[in-house]
Amino acid sequence: RSMSSVTIPPPACMLRPLEAPLRYLFGPGPSNVPPRILAVGAKPIIGHLHPEMYEIMNDIKRGIQYAFQTENNMTISMSGSGHAAMECAVFNTVEPGESVLVAVNGIWGERVAEIAERMGANVHRMVKTPGGYFSNKEIEQAVEKHKPVLFFLTHGESSAGLCHPVDGIGDICRKHNCLFLVDTVASLGAAPIFMDKQNIDILYTGSQKALNAPPGTAPISFNERACHKMFNRKTKPVSYLFDMTHLSNYWGCDGKPARLYHHTGPVSGFFALRESLAILAERVKEHFTTLWLPSVTTIAIPDGYEWRELLAYIMKHHQMEMTGGLGPSIGMVMRIGLMGYNCEKTNADMALNALADALKNCKKSKA
Ligand code: PMP
Repeated sequence: RSMSSVTIPPPACMLRPLEAPLRYLFGPGPSNVPPRILAVGAKPIIGHLHPEMYEIMNDIKRGIQYAFQTENNMTISMSGSGHAAMECAVFNTVEPGESVLVAVNGIWGERVAEIAERMGANVHRMVKTPGGYFSNKEIEQAVEKHKPVLFFLTHGESSAGLCHPVDGIGDICRKHNCLFLVDTVASLGAAPIFMDKQNIDILYTGSQKALNAPPGTAPISFNERACHKMFNRKTKPVSYLFDMTHLSNYWGCDGKPARLYHHTGPVSGFFALRESLAILAERVKEHFTTLWLPSVTTIAIPDGYEWRELLAYIMKHHQMEMTGGLGPSIGMVMRIGLMGYNCEKTNADMALNALADALKNCKKSKA
């Protein structure tokens, strides 16, 4: 056998067409993508450094500024999921040894605490049971005690179904020279957030929830205070890919005449993100403030039932995804997400019918 002949045969699975069934994505994300967004994702690829792509990225920046209600120049999308934005926020604004305060009331605070620990920050956790909420007084006391450079809060706690109030927290952070970082991956587009008015220093979200774009891009914005901190560091951020010095140039936010190659952005993902932000810009929605997260509803597991069995039944007989808890809420709740495009009464009725059908046909395992 010559060196040029293949010895590993082509895998049989690769000779079969891709199977991606149509499903009702009524879990905490991803959500169903409307045809209009799917269609732009199928447009021909252009180069990531072509002028047309820069225009599209400029549009995305404007779309994010609208969605976040901010005038921040330093507004971009990560090439990556919500986690990329979490890491970008922490890696760029915190240096090893600095104090970080994290509100943990579900899985997302815990994740950010771990991300900050991994890069060598001195992490302090304020801990509540899943879905618990922190008063501004408690937050101020903890900020005074730990003197963090960054305070993290999850706006839409998708593991616990809580929409956390943010009013006044930005002012507390400002008073104590700390940056206020807010996660709106599960809430942006479903629950109101006003980055500038609420004095939020760093805000991020994800593409695949209420924005209804495919997973894989994550809008993020930094205000002047955050820029001042991250561009006056003594050390370089641990990640090259997530270094805002490079990303700000790639997104045309650094005032330099040339945008240089840093990494190859997800071209189709950016097309789709632009379309989802366009849909948001076309719709002026009435919002109301509530402690319940409007995008993801957590319900107690019906007494006596095995939650995994209910979910499997609903998937099998209704082609519908609902999910269990996540992290500390596992075994406590089931989660039903109706986000953006999916947020219609007919879908809510369909979800309730599926649940009723599962309750009728799944056996109670406990008394
Ligand atoms: N934060 C919150 C509140 C989330 O709900 C999620 C996704 N479930 C993430 C962060 C992480 O996003 P991704 O899965 O896109 O990395």
